[in-house]
Amino acid sequence: MKLLIKNGSVYDPINSLKGDRMDIAVNEGKIVDQVSEEEAEVVDASGMIVMPGGVDIHSHIAGPDVNLGRLLRPEDHYRDVVTKTRLTRSGVGHSVPSTFVTGYRYSTMGYTTVVTPSMPPLEARHTHEELNDTPMIDKAAFPLLGDWWFVLEYLRDKKFEECAAHVAWMMRATKGYAIKIVNPGGLERWGFGGNVHTIRDEVPGFNITPREIIRGLCRVNSLLHMPHTIHLHTNNLGKPGNYSTTLDTLKCLRNLATGDKPVVHITHCQFSSFTGSDWMNMGTGADIIARYLNQHTHATIDMGQVLFGDTTTMTADGPFQYDLYTLTGNKWMNHDVETETSGGVVPFRYKRTSPVHAMQWSIGLELALLIDDPWKVYMTTDHPNAGPFTGYPRIIAWLMSQKAREKTMSKIHRKARRKSLLPSIDREYGFYDIAIATRAGQARALGLRDKGHLGIGADADIAVYDVDPEKIDASRDYRKVRRAFRNAAYTIKDGYIVAKSGEIVQSRLGRTIWVDPTVSPEWSDTSDDMRNRFKDYWTIEYENYPIKENFLERSETIRVRAEV
Ligand SMILES: [Zn+2]
Repeated sequence: MKLLIKNGSVYDPINSLKGDRMDIAVNEGKIVDQVSEEEAEVVDASGMIVMPGGVDIHSHIAGPDVNLGRLLRPEDHYRDVVTKTRLTRSGVGHSVPSTFVTGYRYSTMGYTTVVTPSMPPLEARHTHEELNDTPMIDKAAFPLLGDWWFVLEYLRDKKFEECAAHVAWMMRATKGYAIKIVNPGGLERWGFGGNVHTIRDEVPGFNITPREIIRGLCRVNSLLHMPHTIHLHTNNLGKPGNYSTTLDTLKCLRNLATGDKPVVHITHCQFSSFTGSDWMNMGTGADIIARYLNQHTHATIDMGQVLFGDTTTMTADGPFQYDLYTLTGNKWMNHDVETETSGGVVPFRYKRTSPVHAMQWSIGLELALLIDDPWKVYMTTDHPNAGPFTGYPRIIAWLMSQKAREKTMSKIHRKARRKSLLPSIDREYGFYDIAIATRAGQARALGLRDKGHLGIGADADIAVYDVDPEKIDASRDYRKVRRAFRNAAYTIKDGYIVAKSGEIVQSRLGRTIWVDPTVSPEWSDTSDDMRNRFKDYWTIEYENYPIKENFLERSETIRVRAEV
């Protein structure tokens, strides 16, 4: 299958293309130097933007938490029923869409790769079943490893190499992509109804602190040469004053970095950037976090941008979900996964008229606008926690237009308006910055070498948006920009045109990408000791725990070799 995308304005930050008018040639699913016009299908992209396909580094699209959200919220589905077409399956939408609808909606927005960030290892099979059922996009999943007993024990005993071998085994067993850590130590405490409150609190029973878990897994991550950094949901997430925990966390990892390479990704950082001591005086710590990130290179973040409206919160942070339940009085589900991790689901509505919610809306944007280097901060809503991913075009408009921000500002609670830093910020993203925040930066942070760019050899995952960067003033005409990003003119996946102006024109199955780390046999992860203890720690036998590769409909393995 040959394809020629002609005459578009190409934004490809990894290859330093800033809206250059040029053709993009595709052959057999890859970007190539050229194809002859006679042999290829031609897409006329004149007056349009061409970007690599969108990459989402953190979006809960599959797994037990997502499915609990679906079960808990019939009212989420009633209002957004999707009928089948000749090519597509039926389903439901809004904040926790069914698997097929998830794939279709991402695809029509020009996204081609999405990572689901919260996979309990024991429920990896379920997660991959759902991912197998999510068409159109490439996928990956992060196993939750920050509160798992083996990890805590190895790290307590400073057995970093054994821990690395165990994590390598876990990646293979769960077909996972990166080490996910959620409220380290706090989830283990939650098993007994407690939590941790600083990174130096001790986790009872394990004689270890959150700080040691984070630093230990960061060392393990670099020992294994994983493509992504550790992916961290900080302690004290969603609590007033937590910016200081976030700073402590960032600082404790600084001396583990070599050169300019990041060693940690702090996810949905908006939820971790609050000042104040209670909800009455809660304010923004975005400027403090941004200042730190402007001065250091060892971390990246994503926004976790709030969208006003109804959504569903879901996270492995069980104690946080319990707090949210007591705060809102909404219905709540708690889910403990044996000794591995916890989880909870609570419906939530972000209101403009709430000073706290409006402040959160402001903090996400402040982070994105106050961090100077767009390669350090990526656009997410922590779907669906701060809002459904279908709201991305609205965020793009806020990032590109001060006017769009002012318009929303005029409608939020006056207390939040008074505290917000947004009126003092006149920065506006250009399309180049948007290309970094929505694909190039995310692909680079994930270590996905063939994604997020349009250089020769890259995957032919491409988005074409019907907006002319030479004619439009995005600051003034932000509505047009919003409209263009809502429905890509063309989405191309593996070299095939799969969506056109909001409609799926071809249903294709993406790949599930996972990491297979090879470690020195001396580090031994399958010792008799582990086999023996397996029975104590899990209800599943050692031999039955791993998922076989053929369980994935389309598997793509990234092999890495650990340092010896
Ligand atoms: Zn999340």
